[in-house]
Amino acid sequence: MLKINATRLQQHFELMSLIGKIGETGTCRPTMTSLEKDAFNLAASWMKEAGMTTRIDHFGNLIGRLEGTDPALPVLMMGSHLDSQPYGGRFDGVAGVLCAIEVVTTLTENNIKPKRSIEVISFADEEGWRFNKGLFGSRGILGKLEAGELQRTDKDGITREQALRDFGCDPEKFKESEYKPGSIFCFLELHIEQGPVLDIAHKPVGVVSGISGPLWLTVKLKGMAGHAGSVPMPLRKDALLGAAEITVALHEIATQVPGNPTVGTVGTMNVFPASRNIIAEEVTFTIDLRDIDLERRNRYEKQLMERIEAITKKHGLTYSISEDTNSAPRYCADWMKAIIQEQCTALGLEAPELMSGPFHDALTLSYACDYAMIFIRSKDGISHNPLEYSSYEDLALGTQVMYGTVLQILETK
Ligand SMILES: [Zn+2]
Repeated sequence: MLKINATRLQQHFELMSLIGKIGETGTCRPTMTSLEKDAFNLAASWMKEAGMTTRIDHFGNLIGRLEGTDPALPVLMMGSHLDSQPYGGRFDGVAGVLCAIEVVTTLTENNIKPKRSIEVISFADEEGWRFNKGLFGSRGILGKLEAGELQRTDKDGITREQALRDFGCDPEKFKESEYKPGSIFCFLELHIEQGPVLDIAHKPVGVVSGISGPLWLTVKLKGMAGHAGSVPMPLRKDALLGAAEITVALHEIATQVPGNPTVGTVGTMNVFPASRNIIAEEVTFTIDLRDIDLERRNRYEKQLMERIEAITKKHGLTYSISEDTNSAPRYCADWMKAIIQEQCTALGLEAPELMSGPFHDALTLSYACDYAMIFIRSKDGISHNPLEYSSYEDLALGTQVMYGTVLQILETK
């Protein structure tokens, strides 16, 4: 079988890692910034070398397109994201974009002219930390943005709308950038696992069975400020104490059945007025709850609500909860998983099937078309951390699997 170029692939990773580089191996490349624009320009230059036309749409997605001989056919879409966490690594998201470009480059080099057009996308704001809501670009192209999204602000008070305009996008033209129902044939995303399953099993490549849906909540507790030296303990309404107890409660709920894949996290906490000698009056924090089993997740959410009710009552606090994201688990297409498995077997790889705890752009695409994901082993399961590491050998293997998969889809579907 025709081979992808592992040396070129590695070079692309190394060049991309220089944009927004922090420390030796870290990346900070926030969405809709000049850093992401630099990353887009670099990726676009490789897309062009692969014979693709490129554009940035009004949601801030970079799209490369290899026109098929029958452009009316629904497209085969691949992609991921080039934005990163503020303290992230070199592979999250980048892998899915660069490997997809390598796949198309190999097709072109071998003079393969597909009937179906192929698109490679780097989706805008997958990570979601800047405006506290992710998967922006992938939801955008499917007409799934929610009311008020453009008014969300980042920590500097810049609205999403402003960031989009500064990036050269025009929110008034969103409609032009949407994909019509049925226009995407299938979606394929290669991604690093970001967990330890493949590393523990000593397998370079895995086939994803589905993505567990995240529930994102923002909780605001309100108590009463007071002098830390004078207000007696029984009279306090300490919002931070309530937040701490809810954090522990979430941990207890998520771990109640050992071995279950349920995960619960409080990741940020804002304390007001944040003075060492004032009892905290207001605390706002985020909750992230995930499970592959939606029924169980809903049950746990209910338990959490009961605990929040009891804890705030105990400490004399009032509270409000807003739901930022609520996605159900989504399963990969059996026919695509079968093709990926066939390609793995052809390369002598035994690829375990595993769930994805993190969400990906594929989660959004799953509502528009069949989808599949290829996972690459993450060393020690570390991700969202500069120490995140996947070997170039593993990445090349995964890309070869992806190439074979794309060829087989083009030939048979
Ligand atoms: Zn990612």
